[in-house]
Amino acid sequence: MKQLSGKERRYQAWINHNISKAIISQAKQTQSFVSIEDLTGIRERTNQKPRNKTERRRSNSWAFYQLRTFLEYKGIKEGIEVIAINPRYTSQTCHCCLHIGLRNHKFFKCSNKACGWIGDADLNGSLMIALVGRSVRSPGGSSLLACPVNSGLQKAHAKLSL
Ligand SMILES: [Zn+2]
Repeated sequence: MKQLSGKERRYQAWINHNISKAIISQAKQTQSFVSIEDLTGIRERTNQKPRNKTERRRSNSWAFYQLRTFLEYKGIKEGIEVIAINPRYTSQTCHCCLHIGLRNHKFFKCSNKACGWIGDADLNGSLMIALVGRSVRSPGGSSLLACPVNSGLQKAHAKLSL
């Protein structure tokens, strides 16, 4: 946090305030809940090894942590549930078929030939977080896993929940 100037911090806080406000407001309108990656270890990690290379990521991490705090705060205020999801595998797993895929910088490519989803890695990660959030919230609710590619999905989901 000390790495950011007061001006940058205030600007970031303003951005996070607006993002979280928009998310909670949309969740309220659509009667949804919010899933977010659980990056609780982030503060400990970010205090280690101050290196130039990680500078941007560290400030991003701090910003992300603040966003989550704002979401939780506003969520409580508006009666919107905010669920933190273990980030393990969310970036490597295909949101369509739950197979492990390849992540190459910005792109994700599903290794399951029957699926073969290719797209933005962050989009896939976000959809995975939403998917895990839904299954966490409704145990056994695999019918909620709506996806055009359903082959092997039930099996994969069963395997995942073991
Ligand atoms: Zn896939």
